[in-house]
Amino acid sequence: MTASAADTASASPADVRLDAALDARADRLEALLPQTQCTKCGFQGCRPYAEAMARGEADCNRCPPGGAEGIRRLAAELGVAPLPLDPTHGTEQPRAVARIDETLCIGCTLCIQACPVDAIVGAAKQMHTVLPDWCTGCDLCVAPCPVDCIAMIPVTGERTGWDAWSQPQADQARSRYLSRKQRLVREREENEARLAAKAAAKLEALRQEAASSEAERQAQERKKAIIQAAIERARLKRQAAQPLNAAAADPVDRPDAAPAAAAPDHPAPSDTKRPQ
Ligand code: SF4
Ligand code: SF4
Ligand code: SF4
Repeated sequence: MTASAADTASASPADVRLDAALDARADRLEALLPQTQCTKCGFQGCRPYAEAMARGEADCNRCPPGGAEGIRRLAAELGVAPLPLDPTHGTEQPRAVARIDETLCIGCTLCIQACPVDAIVGAAKQMHTVLPDWCTGCDLCVAPCPVDCIAMIPVTGERTGWDAWSQPQADQARSRYLSRKQRLVREREENEARLAAKAAAKLEALRQEAASSEAERQAQERKKAIIQAAIERARLKRQAAQPLNAAAADPVDRPDAAPAAAAPDHPAPSDTKRPQ
């Protein structure tokens, strides 16, 4: 659950108990989900869907990877009657694994950026490969591929839903998803720190420069003001992005949490990501 700092500060003991009860319920519901993080339920992953169900804001029939068995488990936890899978979120199907046609891959890395569990290995301008044991079949890598060289290959025969997936696989997928989120936060923080150091160095260099005319002095002052403003914006962004809890630090769940700006000349972030 997320709450603003003001909400947290003003929460009554009853509110806090309610939040804790909802969190505990979301934990139990999340533990029943397949953890493919496919977003087919309409949420940015399994945890946000679990939280919506815990709050009574979403029905238990939105998860195609869990299928009918998953719905039955969720309904039992929620104390409601199972519903048929909502077809607007997909159909229950045999599980698939992504396969890349390496003869066509141009090494753009877009699939790596889309994969929620770091199941794709590759580097910029090199061919990419899926690690089949880590692939959850979420198919999130398919749409971004500009040369359409990723195919989803069914691997479980007639078996679907939880018949085609196991709790250890779900646990591994969740663990890899959380590791990836931590890595993204760490990379963002490292990038921000590097940009902040670069901006501070530029500012210091400007301060050391002697102006040979009034016009040059004014130009230097303008540059210093621009850099100082960029440093301050970055500081405020970092302050606003301070996580209230682990979920709030999630760059996937919080698309508004953009990297902080620093010096005017931003280097591009690393485009190479490898499973850890
Ligand atoms: S497996 Fe996919 S559809 Fe099911 S809860 Fe997780 S993200 Fe949603
Ligand atoms: S490789 Fe593709 S299908 Fe497999 S988990 Fe990653 S994004 Fe999903
Ligand atoms: S998105 Fe497609 S072309 Fe780009 S690296 Fe992945 S598989 Fe290769």
